[in-house]
Parts: sequence; C-alpha cells; structure tokens
Amino acid sequence: MPRLATGEILSSFCLTEPDSGSDAASLRTTAVRDGDHYLLNGTKRYITNGPEADLFTVMARTDPDNKGAGGISAFIVEGDTPGLMRGPADNKMGQKGAHTCDIIFDNCRVPAENIIGGQEGQGFKTAMKVLDRGRLHISAVCVGVAERLVEESLRYTMERKQFGAPLAEHQLVQAMLADSKTEAYAGKTMVMDAARRKDDGENVSTLASCCKLFCAEMVGRVADRAVQVHGGAGYMSEYAVERFYRDVRLFRIYEGTTQIQQLVIARNMVREAS
Ligand SMILES: Cc1cc2nc3c(=O)[nH]c(=O)nc-3n(C[C@H](O)[C@H](O)[C@H](O)COP(=O)(O)OP(=O)(O)OC[C@H]3O[C@@H](n4cnc5c(N)ncnc54)[C@H](O)[C@@H]3O)c2cc1C
Repeated sequence: MPRLATGEILSSFCLTEPDSGSDAASLRTTAVRDGDHYLLNGTKRYITNGPEADLFTVMARTDPDNKGAGGISAFIVEGDTPGLMRGPADNKMGQKGAHTCDIIFDNCRVPAENIIGGQEGQGFKTAMKVLDRGRLHISAVCVGVAERLVEESLRYTMERKQFGAPLAEHQLVQAMLADSKTEAYAGKTMVMDAARRKDDGENVSTLASCCKLFCAEMVGRVADRAVQVHGGAGYMSEYAVERFYRDVRLFRIYEGTTQIQQLVIARNMVREAS
C-alpha cells in the first residue's frame, strides 16, 4: 500500500473483457482452485495502466455454475506472475498519457490467499463498491477539466479581437462562456454534495451515477464550446482545447457508459419507490 500511495508501483483494475463490457456480470475469465492456488484463464480488455502495472485486481468466475454476479471473485495478481501476459498498447483517440492494453491470463497461478475479502463470490460486490467511488472520482475529474476549459476559453476570447473588439465582448460568444461556467459550477456542486454524503456514510450509489452522467456529458459540451470559441485555433494541436476535446470523450464511456448510469439511476428509483 505505501508503494502504491507514493506512485512507486502502479495498479490496474481488470473487469472488462472482449465479450463483456457494460454487462460486466457476464464475464468469462475463470479462476479454478488447484490446491493452495487458483488457475486464472481469460482475456481482459482496455486495461488502464496495463502495460506498466505491477499489481492487478482481477475479476474472475470461481463458480462456473453461477453465470451471474454471485459467481465472481476478485484477486490480487502480481505483474510478474508467470502466465500473465500483456498485449500491445492500444492506439487511442485521446488520453495518450494513460496506456491501455489487453491482459491475458494463461494458466496463471495465483496464491489462494490473494482472493480479496477472503472468500469466493464477493468479487462483483467489491467491483461495484469500487465503481461507486470511481464514478465520483471521474465526475470530479470532469469538473476539473471543465474549469480549465472555461479558463482557456475566457483567456483566449479576452485576447483575440474580431470586428474591432475582443471576442469576449460579443454576446453570442458570451453566451457560450456563460453556459460553460454555469454547467461547470452545477457539476462541481453535485460532486461536492454527493462526496459529502458519502463521507457521512450515506449510500450514494444513485447520486454517484447522477454525478457521472451529468459531469461526463457536461464536460463534453464544455469542450465542444471551448473549441468553438477558439475558432480555427481550437482545431489545432498547439492549443490545449484540441487535446481536451479528444480526452473528455472517454468520460462518457468508461466506469459505466452514460446509458448504464441512466439504467442504474432509474432502476434504483423504481426499487426505492416499490
Ligand atoms: C481508454 C479506456 C480505458 C479503460 N480502462 C478500463 C480499465 O482500467 N478496466 C476495465 O475493466 N475496463 C476499462 N475500460 C472498459 C470500459 O469500462 C468499457 O469500454 C465500458 O464499460 C463499455 O463497455 P464496451 O466497450 O464493451 O461497450 P458495450 O457494452 O458494448 O456498449 C456499446 C454501447 O451500447 C450501449 N449499451 C450497452 N448495453 C446497454 C443497455 N442495456 N441499454 C442501453 N445501452 C446499452 C452502451 O452504453 C454503449 O453506448 C476502458 C475503456 C477505455 C476505452
């Protein structure tokens, strides 16, 4: 843990597979008990930090008869364990600083004591607990990027002049600046509220999904406006907004897509009302 905290070692979270993305509970990687070990077999896809990670949290099915979430367990697997292989780094649209790749397990022998929670069948619950927190985290990242984009947009539009006046004095440009500022503020307020409630011990599963849904979509709109107020410059890679425009696209996809957040929110609403 101290080495993870200092960044001396990196870890990865292995849930997604080639045939199991949004429907994560359908994962097929298997972990079969063999004496004091488990033998892991399967492929994980798009794993962030995969090329560099020293430690992997791996979700695998320990009960082949249970095709749902209850058959899944979580394991800690060290990066140099024989049978753990890394595919070539993926060629991504953005977020070039965060590398992803396939992680392939081929009879990878993991000590039985590396099962998280000490017993089989807890893995999916563990993954979902992590995702609640992860969704709040991603939401906060979206807010941070949105604030940076508002700053970039304001600076550029105050400096550049067209029609004899700074862009920031033209009302249609002001509308874009104001909408982005307002949306970034709304996102920040949501995340702060949900995070406070989580700190107070409240179950924030619905609120974390609300934050992820709103903030990921919000930063997409803010990035789009940031490119627009920069005009042609916004399309050029010398300007930060071009990179952010590509980078933020991911937020609507990972840690549960926007559609999955909608399903989680509505499902929880119906359950709570029944
Ligand atoms: C750069 C990057 C990094 C990632 N890092 C990790 C990582 O570290 N660890 C990890 O485990 N995973 C990681 N992922 C995987 C990511 O979590 C998945 O890509 C994501 O959950 C979506 O799964 P999928 O790609 O299989 O899309 P699919 O599940 O095939 O979805 C395709 C589309 O269908 C929609 N859809 C699916 N089911 C429904 C439904 N029931 N109702 C309505 N719409 C639906 C989705 O919203 C989406 O729009 C990463 C992905 C990327 C791109």
